Amino acid sequence: MQIQVETITFCILISFVGIFIFLERKYPYTKGYPFFRDGFWIDLVWYTLIQSFFLKILIFDYIIQPLEVKFNLSSLRLVSEWPIAWQVLFFLITHDLYIYWFHRWQHNNKILWRTHEAHHSVTQVDWIAGSRSHVVEIIINQTIEFAPIILLGANPMVVPIKACIDAVWGMYIHSNIDVKSGKWQYFINGPEMHQWHHAKGREVFYSNYSTKFAFWDWMFGSAYLPDKKPLDFGLYYKYPKDYFFQHIFSVKRFDEDTLRKYKFWANYLDLRQNILRWCAEVIRSSSSQKMKDRIL
Ligand SMILES: [Zn+2]
Ligand SMILES: [Zn+2]
Repeated sequence: MQIQVETITFCILISFVGIFIFLERKYPYTKGYPFFRDGFWIDLVWYTLIQSFFLKILIFDYIIQPLEVKFNLSSLRLVSEWPIAWQVLFFLITHDLYIYWFHRWQHNNKILWRTHEAHHSVTQVDWIAGSRSHVVEIIINQTIEFAPIILLGANPMVVPIKACIDAVWGMYIHSNIDVKSGKWQYFINGPEMHQWHHAKGREVFYSNYSTKFAFWDWMFGSAYLPDKKPLDFGLYYKYPKDYFFQHIFSVKRFDEDTLRKYKFWANYLDLRQNILRWCAEVIRSSSSQKMKDRIL
């Protein structure tokens, strides 16, 4: 049953990837973005696939599971008797309220900002831009999100259902789609407000902290929704492009470009480009060899 739910939620997720990509091409919020925009591969390979894979193991197997073994709170079955839909809704709303305040704190605290700036470093915000989150930010947020679900004895299906809703909603609010939701923007968060949250400018740095429900911003006085679109996105200072450098930068400031003076770092920074070039060369030469064989 659990595996079935995970398969279904994975299929839903992949379907939404296709839907958002299609809508971004058809109705772009900001026109002219290439599909493989700057940082696309870092977001897909490092943040979405590799980082998520390892952090899932760390958070569930090495943080939440030992907590469960030690305290055995799930045996109290505090929410177990509720219908699954109520459990999902309860954790959606409570976690969303937490994430609003933690996100707000990250923007207002110099140390916590270091765990959040990676998320704001994307200069062309699209469906996959939301995946760019610092390791520490993910560990804190996902532990606080999933530990109560398991420790309060929720139905095991709640975790994959909630994770799927998170992923789809995360893609939606970051998507480069020109959504006009009218009065719904007071309730459901979407690209109209979250694109502004990623804008480069001090007037929006302390606005639009909501993730799923926009009413937190309207209730707590941080909503910003002018009748225009932002011109620039990203940080107002220089930020590394490399995944590992982005994490080192949160601890020690440096200029990625000056590292190119050193042969080792120059080779490292060009490694991905050289591997891609080498792969393209291998494909080209093998296909031309096949053509020759066919002619002979
Ligand atoms: Zn933010
Ligand atoms: Zn965001």
